[in-house]
Amino acid sequence: MAQFVASAVDPRQFPAPTVPEIAFLGRSNVGKSSLINALANAKIAKTSNTPGRTQTINFFELRQPAKTHAEFCFVDLPGYGYARVPKNLSTQWWRFIDPYLKSRSSLALCVTLVDASIPAQKLDIQLLGWLRHHQRPYLVVATKADRISPSQLRKSLADLACALEVSATDITAFSAKSRLGHAALWRAIRAAAGIGVAGSSHSQAVDSD
Ligand code: GDP
Repeated sequence: MAQFVASAVDPRQFPAPTVPEIAFLGRSNVGKSSLINALANAKIAKTSNTPGRTQTINFFELRQPAKTHAEFCFVDLPGYGYARVPKNLSTQWWRFIDPYLKSRSSLALCVTLVDASIPAQKLDIQLLGWLRHHQRPYLVVATKADRISPSQLRKSLADLACALEVSATDITAFSAKSRLGHAALWRAIRAAAGIGVAGSSHSQAVDSD
């Protein structure tokens, strides 16, 4: 079960860091809200065709139906790069995100989304460089994988891995539409949060990859 906890524009509004947190990052329109909703099996994140609307950090608890306590939290970070010609991750975006990404003690994993159907973007390369530099745990998810053929997808994953300087096996292809990659991503999330896979109700409905 997924439940909204808090919307923050400032670290003082962050909830207490009591459970492992999985943060979701990516350029505006990359499919972040769709992915979060697909994983949670509920419409918790707002999808929109207007890029760059979410400028708050949103926290959602996930817990098993029978349990009273949350197992972990999903954290939806604002999308970046919606300016017309974005050359760098904007100072404003960094000022907003930095206190969370750098200092959050409960941050267990940064799920970094890139679009499977287009080449790696400079801002994605910058973000991954930053995460590596600051030794934040991350994995890369290539979204909208249903938009291209399986052979194009294989090539795209190899090209993305090369540009982003990660191993091709470290990129999970994902589709909110076909559910490709759901089970693999849930496994990675549960492992990062230190939760066993057996008995997971969050991942029960996902087995199509
Ligand atoms: P966000 O801005 O990163 O939160 O992106 P959204 O989740 O709002 O998605 C942006 C657009 O991409 C919407 O029109 C979605 O319908 C579309 N989209 C998102 N995920 C997928 C996917 O897996 N497959 C396809 N074909 N379209 C997707």
